Amino acid sequence: MLPNTASGQLYQRAVNVLVEGVSSASRGPANYAPYPPYMRRGAGSRLFDVDGNEYIDWMMSFGALPLGHAHPRIVEAVQREVVHGTHFATALEVEVEVAEMLVGLLPHADKIRFANTGTEACMAAFRLARGLTGRSKIVKFEGHYHGWYDAVLLNTNPQLPTTLGHPNDPIRIPDSSGLTLGSWADTIVVPWNDEAALTRVMAAHGRDVACVVTEGIMTNMGVIPAKEGYLKFIQAICKSHGALFYLDETVTGFRVGAGGCAELYGLKPDIVTYGKALGQGFPIAAICGPDWVMDGLEWGKVLHYGSHNAPRLGLYATKTMLEIMMEGGAVGFQQLQACGRKMANALREVINAQKRHPAIVQNVGSVFQIYFTDRDAITDYRDFCSHVDRNKFRLFANALLQSGIYMSPANTLHSLSSLAHSDADIQATAEAVARTLETL
Ligand code: PMP
Repeated sequence: MLPNTASGQLYQRAVNVLVEGVSSASRGPANYAPYPPYMRRGAGSRLFDVDGNEYIDWMMSFGALPLGHAHPRIVEAVQREVVHGTHFATALEVEVEVAEMLVGLLPHADKIRFANTGTEACMAAFRLARGLTGRSKIVKFEGHYHGWYDAVLLNTNPQLPTTLGHPNDPIRIPDSSGLTLGSWADTIVVPWNDEAALTRVMAAHGRDVACVVTEGIMTNMGVIPAKEGYLKFIQAICKSHGALFYLDETVTGFRVGAGGCAELYGLKPDIVTYGKALGQGFPIAAICGPDWVMDGLEWGKVLHYGSHNAPRLGLYATKTMLEIMMEGGAVGFQQLQACGRKMANALREVINAQKRHPAIVQNVGSVFQIYFTDRDAITDYRDFCSHVDRNKFRLFANALLQSGIYMSPANTLHSLSSLAHSDADIQATAEAVARTLETL
């Protein structure tokens, strides 16, 4: 029997009409027990569910909300514009304005093409890389996620592998049923943070590789930073084999600084994709790069369509978000990082003060994750699969929910700060984590 709560009752109705009661696999019973809280509204750092419970939200819409919920200036901008229409699917003034802002902000971007979601932007980027180079193969890394597109939905589900294969020849494991061999036959999977493995793959296949795609931080196995110099190594090996260096900043863009990982690690990627934080909660994504790459999307070359591309209201939200974050010399981006680091340090203190549950916290700027592990660091997917107690994390995050703290129960995801989080939120979270670890 489900407890008699409004969320419990909604869940009972929901399972009759929505698959697993939700609209994305990560929101359902695989992560939430016995059912997810159904949310009604958000304000600043808080979410409120249909029972009136209040949560300090560290999931922040999977990173889409750098300003927090319902920021007054975002609300004002969208309210001002919605009375003039929702979406036109035409060229827009605000589209030009936001593209100019982005090109001014991002040294690797001469041109922008707007899409809606990270998945779509990644799909377009892969096609663009193949179209430009005339090559068929994509190199991706174990544990890196680039959307739910068939060609790259491989080796990102740590529940599946019984063996990962030799690092020189990882076994490609589709994360979903329904993926035909043909859809990923041209995808090569390589362990990340392993120079020798990529060197070997590029020596064998380099002339057929259209692009090597990497996240700047492995954010789909929590938060795993690249070893020093590793991203520049990928960039260099791409150049020497004539493959495009594709940096997927869907999570890290506008999250680990104004210029994302490209700026943080001094990279010059050929293609970059953004999503999540860019739209401040609206579905908006972008593909960008230098002219010689982006001009490949011109009519008659590589095709990219989309009725909802460059969504009008989302662009006003993006414009306002960038204006707010860039005020006073990008103070907003600095605050965002400082808040994430402070929360990560507070968690470390709590974890180190107790002995029952060995755990570590990994963090880059506004993004952080807790791992229940006896290791000092988690450095790649194989570490994550073998040495992290994901089930304990799921129990922990579900227990935290009962204390009004929202962290995604999926250990593969991560927690994120926003400009709306206060020191009081950090303290309340640290106290709740301490209590939860006592009883776990
Ligand atoms: N790339 C990366 C690095 C991501 O983390 C994600 C989403 N988690 C995507 C692409 C896909 O983005 P979306 O969910 O907006 O389709």
